[in-house]
Amino acid sequence: MSQADCIFCHLPQASIILENDLAVAFWDIHPVSQGHLLVIPRTHRSNFFDLSEEELLAINRLIQAGKTLIDQQYHPDGYNVGANVGLYGGQTVMHCHLHLIPRYRGDDPNPAGGIRKMLPNGQEFA
Ligand code: AMP
Ligand code: ZN
Repeated sequence: MSQADCIFCHLPQASIILENDLAVAFWDIHPVSQGHLLVIPRTHRSNFFDLSEEELLAINRLIQAGKTLIDQQYHPDGYNVGANVGLYGGQTVMHCHLHLIPRYRGDDPNPAGGIRKMLPNGQEFA
């Protein structure tokens, strides 16, 4: 099912980097690091918790394939993987997407905590 006003329901075919029956992957238009990839279900789902088990498996396969691709192209030193859910979880595009964000030595002088740092009190770690 596709939604008329959803940008991720209307991605140009040329932007698709990896795909399978239920999911597609494409580069984030505003990458937070080199190789930032998004993985989405083909069918419009509002958020991570609306995914079927089959879609979760299909998305996970593209996350794994995306890691292989990013490792080959950019040789990152780590990754963050995750989904923002809902307005107050930071979600801005309301078609479920998983962020696969490569991390590079030195991109944060104190990387400990990773995605915990999305909240100010998450910085107090290690
Ligand atoms: P979120 O804040 O988790 O909803 O993330 C939405 C992501 O989609 C952001 O990282 C945007 O840079 C990215 N984005 C928005 N529009 C596009 C687009 N047309 N193509 C690729 N990435 C996009
Ligand atoms: Zn959509």
